[in-house]
Amino acid sequence: MIAPDAKKKLDELSSRVLTASADAMRKERYPDCGGSLQIGFYAGGCGAGSVSIDCQPCNIRIRLDGVPSVPPWVAVAGRETQT
Ligand SMILES: [Zn+2]
Repeated sequence: MIAPDAKKKLDELSSRVLTASADAMRKERYPDCGGSLQIGFYAGGCGAGSVSIDCQPCNIRIRLDGVPSVPPWVAVAGRETQT
């Protein structure tokens, strides 16, 4: 079970990643360990897509589905990038 404050930090990270510029996204780190993140955007079939945020050292993946628009960083950094 994830602690409420940890959940809040992950929610905040998730919402930032959906709207971040490439420059802002490069500064994002996983809240617990401060590690860099693997971030990917995958286009879906119904005008929505999904975003995944991975911290490999922690073996954690956050997946956000129903993302309504392509995040701004995708145009600069590509669909899959590392912070
Ligand atoms: Zn980590």
